Amino acid sequence: MAQDYYELLGVSRTASPDEIKKAYRKLARQHHPDNNSGDEEKFKEIQGAYDILSDPQKKQTYDRGGFQVPGMGPDANFSMSDLADILGGVFGGRIPGTGGGGRGRTPMAARGRDLETQARITFDQSIDGTEISLPVPSQDPCPDCRGTGGRAGSSMTTCPECSGQGVVIQSDGLFSTQTPCPRCRGVGRVPKDPCPTCRGTGRRPGGSTLRVKVPAGIRDGGRIRVPGKGEPGVGNGPRGDLYVVVHVAPSQVFRRKGEHLEIELPITVTEALRGAEVRVPTLSGTKLLRIAPGTKHGSVLRLKGEGPKKTTGADERGDLHYRIAIDLPKTLTDEQRAAVDALAETLDYDPRADLLSRAATRTAGGTHA
Ligand SMILES: [Zn+2]
Ligand SMILES: [Zn+2]
Repeated sequence: MAQDYYELLGVSRTASPDEIKKAYRKLARQHHPDNNSGDEEKFKEIQGAYDILSDPQKKQTYDRGGFQVPGMGPDANFSMSDLADILGGVFGGRIPGTGGGGRGRTPMAARGRDLETQARITFDQSIDGTEISLPVPSQDPCPDCRGTGGRAGSSMTTCPECSGQGVVIQSDGLFSTQTPCPRCRGVGRVPKDPCPTCRGTGRRPGGSTLRVKVPAGIRDGGRIRVPGKGEPGVGNGPRGDLYVVVHVAPSQVFRRKGEHLEIELPITVTEALRGAEVRVPTLSGTKLLRIAPGTKHGSVLRLKGEGPKKTTGADERGDLHYRIAIDLPKTLTDEQRAAVDALAETLDYDPRADLLSRAATRTAGGTHA
């Protein structure tokens, strides 16, 4: 069964309501069970998808489904949209024109939606691999309010947290993420009088912890799939999957360049001129790196296989790249100045001669006023 409603209707995620309607009509005609070539299952799927994508509120909730963990400490804020609850009614809807026997409520199993969460690890953890703990709130409805989040008889009011938008933007200077409002779980409305047992969440208090292995070599923004840890399915449908997007804190020393790491390596002007063997940092202590005589500023030297583990599955490592930065003293002593003067005397060539002669042909060509 297709999971993605947009895919199901064959439209892009940015499709206009008109485009969605058109696509739905075409497919509904094509798969209508009254047709010879009709397919009732397919027809129901299309119907279900259209029910959601044609309703701005449901569409918004669907588009933004997911939860996130902005941090990983005890203050980790975990919000989960309860699509199965919000959209539960959709799947039991009446299917029009399916003939006498087909009328009435037709319950349908649907796979639970995939969820996405964010986790943050240090640079060292990204190199060595690690295991992270994700708090998972209970999926069971609160026994006292039966999942409504409100005290018995409480009326609903606009959610004060998101002003009814159903979504909040969280930013800590590094990331800005739009997530379902944790207070109303994306619905935009909350009970006036919250249930004291679940404090309005509608979920049985408590939860569990999910341990997720992060492979060595993971890059910033890498995604880990945890099968079967997404939202519960509807009916007998299986659970969706959980995707953990891993953010890697930048290192003070290493910069990630694809499957390699880059380090800016300062050398003195004499090391650049005469060549040298210098101590350089690697992922496993320091090593000696040979600088050839005449090494230019900005050139890159490599230590093969000293980089991070590749995430291709093979037991290979990327390289370490050392980008040479020739460090120049701001001031010179009299002695140093005399030495530089002596050097300048002997370096009596003009490195710009070629450049200037090439530029001269342009002026001679008369294109310059
Ligand atoms: Zn409750
Ligand atoms: Zn809200």
